[in-house]
Amino acid sequence: MKDTALNAHYQQILGETSPWEVSEVRLDVEHLVNEVRLTVQPDAIWACPQCHGRMHIKEWRTRRWRHMDTCQFRTILEAAVPLVECSEHGAQTVQVPWAEGSSRFTLFFERFAVQVLEACPTARAAELLKITWDEADGIKQRAVRRGLARRQIVGLKYVCVDEKAVGRGQDYVTVVTGILDGEPRVLYLGDGRDEAALNGFWEWLGPEACARIKAVSMDMSPSYQKSTRRHCPNADLIFDPFHMMKMLNKAVDEVRRQEVVMGTVTVQAALKQTRQMWLWGEENLPERHAARFEALKDSTLKTARAWRLKELWRTFKRCVDSDDAHAFFHKWYALVMQSKLEAVKKVARSFKDHLAGILTLFKHGFCNALAEGVNSRIQLLIQKSCGYRNRQRLKIDILFHFGGLNMDPVAAQ
Ligand SMILES: [Zn+2]
Repeated sequence: MKDTALNAHYQQILGETSPWEVSEVRLDVEHLVNEVRLTVQPDAIWACPQCHGRMHIKEWRTRRWRHMDTCQFRTILEAAVPLVECSEHGAQTVQVPWAEGSSRFTLFFERFAVQVLEACPTARAAELLKITWDEADGIKQRAVRRGLARRQIVGLKYVCVDEKAVGRGQDYVTVVTGILDGEPRVLYLGDGRDEAALNGFWEWLGPEACARIKAVSMDMSPSYQKSTRRHCPNADLIFDPFHMMKMLNKAVDEVRRQEVVMGTVTVQAALKQTRQMWLWGEENLPERHAARFEALKDSTLKTARAWRLKELWRTFKRCVDSDDAHAFFHKWYALVMQSKLEAVKKVARSFKDHLAGILTLFKHGFCNALAEGVNSRIQLLIQKSCGYRNRQRLKIDILFHFGGLNMDPVAAQ
């Protein structure tokens, strides 16, 4: 049946398909399939993309693409695509205007699929789109590749570097986040957490852009520091307050563990099942622990003293400027040194060694709360997926969700 109105309708939906045009729409009611056939215009000429010379058709191959469903009908595009040959540049595959590369989906389908994948996990998206998990994953990978190829990084001044563990082993990914147009975006993912993992980002960015970087925030591990000093001559190092809190929390926990081992029966009873309580910030302590903790926190327990020093440090970020912060640090440091709590003293000494990089936070007024937001969302992604067995998969997912990439396949045309 040749229904020109229906053909014209589908031609309009598909947009520019030249040199093909919709020649037939076949409805298979039994299998709920709507087949749209495209045929090459008889006067089509295939020009070589390199020399623009006319190419000869070697053979035709029939290909099919899944398009957006029409009501409950699965819509399939079918067209014969020639394999062409230039006498100088050899055989070439012709690119159809409605799909990308060897994809078995139209660009419109992929655009919709990207939106669904952004909204839910891959398995659920595959189910909703009635495609296999591998197909959904392929759409995601193509989307990320497309987005990365288009991305231009202009005016980057502040960068945050962090590490993320993959799975349960000692496998890490270095996550580089930058503030672009006021929004935190994951810019780069390096393998591992050593100097080379970060070097890759600076090399990709290029020396001119590196020279414009004003500050880089990171933890106190030496590899990121070395890499940044080598590549970014004008950047200040900022030691991330979040990581400093983590170090102090660890120290408080160490004091508690030692106190449990060395303490009297009374001390042991007082500390029983309190591990998590000391790690919460005071205002975040759940209500059910409030009464017990109220008595504990002001006690003479070593753990309580360590906790009070940690909580005092949390007020550091309220300092108004670098001078204020400097004064605060020395007061806090003196208190820690008098405390006889070795684990906390060790952390304080490390802070002192890195003091310049701690105070730069106030110089730049640059708060990495934004980047921290991205980091905690990445952590959530890892938890939701029950860990990633495959580093490559984690990298694709992070860029897909937090890269701020323009992944729209239709806009590519
Ligand atoms: Zn040619």
